[in-house]
Amino acid sequence: MGRFRDSNLLCHLFETVVARCIAEGLASGQRFAADASIIQADANRQNSTPKADWQPDKIDPKEVPRAVREYLATLDDAAFGVASPVEPKYTSHSDPASQWTGARGGPAYFAYSNNYLIDTDNGVILDIEATRSIRQAEVGSVRTMIDRVSDTFALQPERLIADTAYGTGEMLDWLDRQRGIAPHISVFDKSARRDGTFERTDFTYDAEQDTYTCPGGKELKQNRRAFTMAREQKPDEHGMLRYRASKADCDVCELKARCCPKAPARKVLRSIYEPSRDRARAIAQTTEYAIFCKLRKKVEMLFAHLKRILGLNRLRLRGPLGARDEFHLAATAQNLRKLAKLLPPPQIAC
Ligand code: SF4
Repeated sequence: MGRFRDSNLLCHLFETVVARCIAEGLASGQRFAADASIIQADANRQNSTPKADWQPDKIDPKEVPRAVREYLATLDDAAFGVASPVEPKYTSHSDPASQWTGARGGPAYFAYSNNYLIDTDNGVILDIEATRSIRQAEVGSVRTMIDRVSDTFALQPERLIADTAYGTGEMLDWLDRQRGIAPHISVFDKSARRDGTFERTDFTYDAEQDTYTCPGGKELKQNRRAFTMAREQKPDEHGMLRYRASKADCDVCELKARCCPKAPARKVLRSIYEPSRDRARAIAQTTEYAIFCKLRKKVEMLFAHLKRILGLNRLRLRGPLGARDEFHLAATAQNLRKLAKLLPPPQIAC
């Protein structure tokens, strides 16, 4: 089994079928869509350790099964160990790389995420990635897959269609500025206020001056103190810059009760990725946006087919490589169905 897995045969088989789909004109590479689906791992809560007692540095790789060795090998991997600093509530003994998740709303279980990148022409799966079932790993996997498809098949899409989970500032910026791909993704925005006070969108940004103007017509700036040398403000750990109104302006403002009733002066946060977020918002206003977003259903239908028809609700193999192999095999079968539709129908003998 070890030699078979090391040969990466299922990955080569998958790529061969994708290459054939492209050669047959089933995938033009103009529009991609991405999504993830959670697949239960072959692991149980009874055979696990709570996070307070889990000590991976005490594991001897020579003494443990393959799935545990694979877990140790992925501790520095962006799709697994370093995807998030938050440690899972439980870690499975038999498959420690699987993620304890309650993301589906029901009872929690151990799982992997199956990430698909598809061409929306005919729903051909161009790449897959097995990751931990957390948003950061799933979003990161889309970058990995887009670059890998570009390297392997020389396909670079004009558009990427995905749901709001992929609309983080960093991801939108990577697509928009670093890869020149138009993000057809709703912007992930947590700036909405529930107390009825002015929203961030009520403040107008002036890119030339790098200031906001509030509904009362006053300026919000990053620096309110006058320095002899202009100081560049550093973003916080979430990539946000702070713009502040003057306390003197807010103290006498008639709108204070609707703006910052509990603070001496109003602050507005701006992401360092705001230009790309703004471009994603502008795309969302176009007439094509709604049409293209419907194509996202094609990935959802592939996952429904994977679970209902191919029956992949629970993995049979353990470890990240076991999950990867099963996902590759299932995606190969799904792409072969697309190719099979190109065959002429059987002739009926008269
Ligand atoms: S309270 Fe301050 S920031 Fe808000 S509208 Fe008035 S002057 Fe502008």
